[in-house]
Amino acid sequence: MSTNFRNADDESAQRLRNVRSAIDTACAQAGREPSAVALLAVSKTWPALDVQRMALAGQRQFGENYIQEGVDKIVAVRDALQTELPDAVLVWHCIGPIQSNKTTLVAQHFDWVHSVDRLKIAQRLSDQRPAGMTPLQVCVQVNVDGAQTKSGVALAEATELARQVAQMPRLQLRGLMCIPDPRPDGSAPTEAFATAAALYQSWQDLGLGVDTLSMGMSADLSEAVAAGSTMVRVGTALFGQRTYAAS
Ligand SMILES: *Cc1c(COP(=O)(O)O)cnc(C)c1O
Repeated sequence: MSTNFRNADDESAQRLRNVRSAIDTACAQAGREPSAVALLAVSKTWPALDVQRMALAGQRQFGENYIQEGVDKIVAVRDALQTELPDAVLVWHCIGPIQSNKTTLVAQHFDWVHSVDRLKIAQRLSDQRPAGMTPLQVCVQVNVDGAQTKSGVALAEATELARQVAQMPRLQLRGLMCIPDPRPDGSAPTEAFATAAALYQSWQDLGLGVDTLSMGMSADLSEAVAAGSTMVRVGTALFGQRTYAAS
């Protein structure tokens, strides 16, 4: 291993420690156990090598937005880690919009999907999930702040979709995911987080068996944890600033 590679590993480990400690601090402030909040490392746009470094630093759960990019990375990272981390089980989450023609790739390669926002997609994912794999773990993406331009099922229709997902043989409903719009003044979207938390609680009360409230990103993870998030999705704070190439 070259010196540069080693330094990059150290940097990944340091960033991972920093983010984990920000989560732990937010948990302590909210009177919650640190183990109640999982960290999903959002590796979109970053090459497989960066994922490998995070995996060597101890991170196991990774999130991807672009399906083909994610699938390529899942395969590349698995091959690359076979010698270095033979026993590591990485868990891959699809967190980006899903077109109908991409559902097969998602069903065949990912462990989780956070971005199910309509029945047709859920149905296709269930139909296409290979029999030899565990059921696909699903969060329903909810448009909690009612933004016009956004993906996510409308708040009023979210519970019905969750019930339908819970019935599908090859899907396991785990909870809900939201991506509130940032507020004009740059503050955290605390009202939207509260709306999501209330909906999540209502699903628990209905006996839907959910255990995952996927909300919070680099800029607002503390507020999300305070509102009850059980999984924060962090990209920039772990990997650095993304530059978007067409992908
Ligand atoms: C990119 C992305 C993230 C991570 O955002 P950062 O601000 O880089 O932490 C989280 N969730 C989703 C759905 C994303 O697309």
